[in-house]
Formats: sequence, C-alpha cells, structure tokens
Amino acid sequence: MPQRCLFCRLADQEGAANRVYEDEHVVAFPALHPLNPGHLVLIPRAHIRNAYALNKDLAGHMIAVGARLAALVAREFGYPGTSLAINNEAPGQRIFHAHLHIIPRRPGDRLDLSSPPEADRNELAEVARRLRQALAAERAG
Ligand SMILES: [Zn+2]
Repeated sequence: MPQRCLFCRLADQEGAANRVYEDEHVVAFPALHPLNPGHLVLIPRAHIRNAYALNKDLAGHMIAVGARLAALVAREFGYPGTSLAINNEAPGQRIFHAHLHIIPRRPGDRLDLSSPPEADRNELAEVARRLRQALAAERAG
C-alpha cells in the first residue's frame, strides 16, 4: 500500500495555491518553517524516504530544478547566495519524504536548523505568488 505522508498529499493537490514550480516528477513550494524568507522545498512526486533512496535521474533532476529555483529566489529577493540541502535521518529531517531545501543565504545569517518558526500563511502565499510571476517572466523573456 502506498504511503500517504504530508508531502505526498501536497504533491497530489492539483493547483495548490502555494506551488512555485511543478512538473511530471517534482513539486516546489515555500517551506512551512522557513530559515530565511523565500526558503523553498522541492519534493519528488513519488514517496521516497530520503536521498539514499533517490535514483540517479531523479536526484539529477532535483538538483537541476533546485539550482534554477535557487538562482531565481536569490535574484528575486536580493540574496547574495543560497544553500541546497537534503537532510537524511538527520535532526533536520522531520518529514520522511525526501525534500531538497532551497535556502537563500546572507553572510552571517547563522541559521538555526533545529527549530525554525512556522511562517505566516499569507507570507508563504506572497512568496509563492512573487516567484511564480518571476518564473513566468523568465519563460516569456
Ligand atoms: Zn510521501
């Protein structure tokens, strides 16, 4: 029986308001507990526990899409850099469905990976709206 974790449910919700990007294999949306404003999470549509279980094609696709979204977030929100990270059974992994964190970074931001606060839902919707618009502009340009 297939597992139905929180991320499986989010991946299946067609047209969920906060999606920033989606294709046949992956879905991206703002992190519910952002380390910095603009922090995104990219997940495979398939329920895969962590990076250890990702096949090469999907892992490559996640990094490629993640890097593109990272560049977009940095540009759109004015960050000098980003981090891409997957936690595997580490203290930072709370949901056991592989997810790539796309974290916008500033020098000296001293992020606390252990307990980021939950974001305001309106803020997340605004982050998603802004990035969807930037992506659309990028495609059109
Ligand atoms: Zn899942």
